[in-house]
Amino acid sequence: MDTHPEYAGGQYVLPPLPYACSALEPLIGEETVRLHHDKHHAAYVAGANAAAEALREIAAGRKDASLTPLYAGQLAFNEAGHILHTLYWNNMTPAPKSGPPAELAEAIRRQFGSFEGMMLLFRTTAVNVQGSGWSLLGLDPASGELQIAGVEKHQCGAAPGFAPLLACDVWEHAYYLGYKNDRAAYVENFVKLINWEDVGRRYESARRARR
Ligand code: MN
Repeated sequence: MDTHPEYAGGQYVLPPLPYACSALEPLIGEETVRLHHDKHHAAYVAGANAAAEALREIAAGRKDASLTPLYAGQLAFNEAGHILHTLYWNNMTPAPKSGPPAELAEAIRRQFGSFEGMMLLFRTTAVNVQGSGWSLLGLDPASGELQIAGVEKHQCGAAPGFAPLLACDVWEHAYYLGYKNDRAAYVENFVKLINWEDVGRRYESARRARR
């Protein structure tokens, strides 16, 4: 698995979807996936590149330095959106297996008591994010254990170093064509598409990086 498919040749790049736009039908529709990847995700990639370029221009003295907070904010927003969308696409599969691999399953039991308990926190966070955002399962940098985090827009409501492993996008563009205002029904079906092998690989990688 390429763990950094988001950046190549000095630019943020839009990775191709790991499956066809229609592959998640009927739970997530083809048009939703196509617009979401080709328009929304692509816009975050373009925004991150534009903001990074503006910051290089400021550093080179060719642009007004007072614009630094504006572009730094735009870079944070767009890059976070880019990274979370890349995670989201890879966290889903048209052929999901039943549950997490052994090491991740044991970490879930250790931290949350049960798989069902963790998923209750994950789904409830997803349904209750105010406005646009994400629900994440990730690695707490202090304890090295798993943690659920809610995200407003793309800014992560967790400590620096928090490593997201599983991301559910609850911006309206992720579900409105198929589910209208029923975010909870979308979240229930997102859960059915989770690629637990991908999440497990990311868990092992994040644990190794922390050592
Ligand atoms: Mn999105």
